[in-house]
Amino acid sequence: MALSDLKAMARNEAGIAAALGILKQQFGERFQTGQSIREQHGHTTTYLPNQAPDGVVFAESTADVQEVVRVCAAHRVPVIAFGTGTSLEGHVNAPAGGISLDTSRMDKIVSVNTDDLDCTVEAGVTREALNNYLRDTGLFFPIDPGANASLGGMAATRASGTNAVRYGTMRENVLSLRAVMADGSEVVTSHRARKSSAGYDLTRLLVGSEGTLGIITEVTLRLQGIPQAISGGVCPFPTVEAACQAVITTIQMGIPVARIELVNALQMRAMKNYSKLGYPESPCLFLEFHGSDASVAEQAESFGEIATEYGGGPFLWTTVAEERAKLWKARHDAYWASQTLRPGARALSTDACVPISRLAECIAETEADIARLGLIAPIVGHVGDGNFHTLVLMDPNDPADIGRAEEFVKRLAERAISMDGTSTGEHGIGQGKMGLMEREHGHGVQVMRAIKAALDPQNILNPGKVLPAAEQSTGH
Ligand SMILES: Cc1cc2nc3c(=O)[nH]c(=O)nc-3n(C[C@H](O)[C@H](O)[C@H](O)COP(=O)(O)OP(=O)(O)OC[C@H]3O[C@@H](n4cnc5c(N)ncnc54)[C@H](O)[C@@H]3O)c2cc1C
Repeated sequence: MALSDLKAMARNEAGIAAALGILKQQFGERFQTGQSIREQHGHTTTYLPNQAPDGVVFAESTADVQEVVRVCAAHRVPVIAFGTGTSLEGHVNAPAGGISLDTSRMDKIVSVNTDDLDCTVEAGVTREALNNYLRDTGLFFPIDPGANASLGGMAATRASGTNAVRYGTMRENVLSLRAVMADGSEVVTSHRARKSSAGYDLTRLLVGSEGTLGIITEVTLRLQGIPQAISGGVCPFPTVEAACQAVITTIQMGIPVARIELVNALQMRAMKNYSKLGYPESPCLFLEFHGSDASVAEQAESFGEIATEYGGGPFLWTTVAEERAKLWKARHDAYWASQTLRPGARALSTDACVPISRLAECIAETEADIARLGLIAPIVGHVGDGNFHTLVLMDPNDPADIGRAEEFVKRLAERAISMDGTSTGEHGIGQGKMGLMEREHGHGVQVMRAIKAALDPQNILNPGKVLPAAEQSTGH
């Protein structure tokens, strides 16, 4: 089955009608059924079809979430949590209809514990809102997926981004969650202690579960001190392989790089034009180092020496905040810049992740595949983690183009899995990568199905995501 032909699942029409009536009464103007608002709460970020929910509830508290889930459980109606809708694999679609539970009004910072370097926020707080709030405390929250996503959505997708090489992903940075389970009950998964051996790790079970096991209403997060000094810059390389080798050596030498991002030659061309950067159109690494004045200079110089070893350089770096901001703005705009390479096309952003020792080989084979399939598909990546994105530029109305893009994505995922890696380092499974789950996890998928059946026996929490139905589990 082509992903572009995603079929709707069976709908429980009577249950949906009953739930719509009750929610309208209970939530008044906070319950909306207009077509455009429903479509905005389905998938909108790629060519995957929009499958809109039947209604949207704007929750304002854990009690609201419990109420919605109880109504949906009583009438066997799907309930799909919604943060900011920036996920890329059809995560928020409603293939069996149902209710979208929008958390954007759950936007309170519950507490900030500066002595413990942690905070608790409601699920709808975005990462930028949190960092704006923290500005005067000398602390910051480092996970940065580019989009201004909600912290509930980021926990649910186990998101990461440019800083993960130094600070980890949502897996390492969520200390605890408050969540509503499929029967409407409430659970707090852990206390704020930095470590615990007390029982099953429910926090990490819910992190990355994409709204299929519970609905997160509060997130307790680790915070970091804002570094005293930051240096950063861009370093060109003759080939992608040389850049990857420099990354591997940098990591192996224990240089505590905060960001190390690969941009291939094609993406660099797009970014030069879009963001007016004065670097060569060759593969480049964008880097950032955090620490004291002396240590960020030392780290930058050590990296410069490594780059020279692999034929790269010059590594031009700076500690001036405005210059660094321009570089990282250009890096964050890579997705939009790439679209200028093929006007009228849309970028399909797919990600894969391999052990760092296989990174150069995986990217080289991927570039060869792009050439073989005749695609325009620049590469950017959080390569310090072995994670990279390919932005496939495609005409969303051309079935042949979609077919080529889907073949490419499948081959990339299978290549990464065969190199002991994963079909997705950070974007998640949603609908788009469900067909790869058995290839990646084997019998593990049965164990995941058992967990899902135990926690959500009626399959009302974001159905049709993550776990393929048994009969469709072999195709992509
Ligand atoms: C231009 C661009 C660049 C991106 N770059 C990156 C990147 O570098 N790294 C990265 O990791 N991601 C990246 N993403 C993907 C996206 O930003 C992340 O997946 C993000 O974590 C999604 O958060 P959201 O609030 O938008 O979630 P949504 O899209 O609203 O939801 C995502 C999933 O989480 C579930 N969910 C949402 N809120 C909750 C909740 N409160 N409880 C339970 N489940 C919930 C939803 O049901 C859905 O399954 C990028 C996206 C774009 C558009």
